[in-house]
Amino acid sequence: MRKAAFFDRDGVINIDYGFVGKIENYDLVAGVANAMSKLKKQGYLLVLITNQSGIARGKYTEADFARVSSFMQANLALHDACFDGIYFCPHHPQAPLEQYRCECSCRKPKSGMFLKAAEDLNISLVDSIMIGDHATDLIAAKGAGIRDLYLVGEHIETEKELIKEARCFKNLDQMVIFYQNEKK
Ligand SMILES: [Mg+2]
Ligand SMILES: [Zn+2]
Repeated sequence: MRKAAFFDRDGVINIDYGFVGKIENYDLVAGVANAMSKLKKQGYLLVLITNQSGIARGKYTEADFARVSSFMQANLALHDACFDGIYFCPHHPQAPLEQYRCECSCRKPKSGMFLKAAEDLNISLVDSIMIGDHATDLIAAKGAGIRDLYLVGEHIETEKELIKEARCFKNLDQMVIFYQNEKK
């Protein structure tokens, strides 16, 4: 079995402008590609786990999401930091678009996407880590059996109250520097 580093997307990988569905609004957070590449070299699969309710809300389509994902992967590939798996939830319980309106088991804070990734990629969840910018990201990971939880980004002061066991860092770059020292 493999270990994985799981990531939320908006606010961790790219700047969260709210409903990022177009390449023009996709801006990589500084230091992210380098940090991801370090984790890959340490033997982690890199797996994206992202709620994309903008699809359910009709703000952008699944095809738009796929275009942003391709752009992101091409960009990360330059640093040997590609995702090994990308999982997204397009649903929302009150979606205006009927085909996406449901109480699914994938939308974080539920754990469905983690369980699916673990099955698909033969991942040991107890040996894995999760990095998110909201408590709901980490609650979803914890529900799947991941114990090593990291909060990064702009919301840590409020979010850390909701997930006490998370360790907090300004960004992914800082988190990976800490992590590499700790694992030495
Ligand atoms: Mg986020
Ligand atoms: Zn879903």
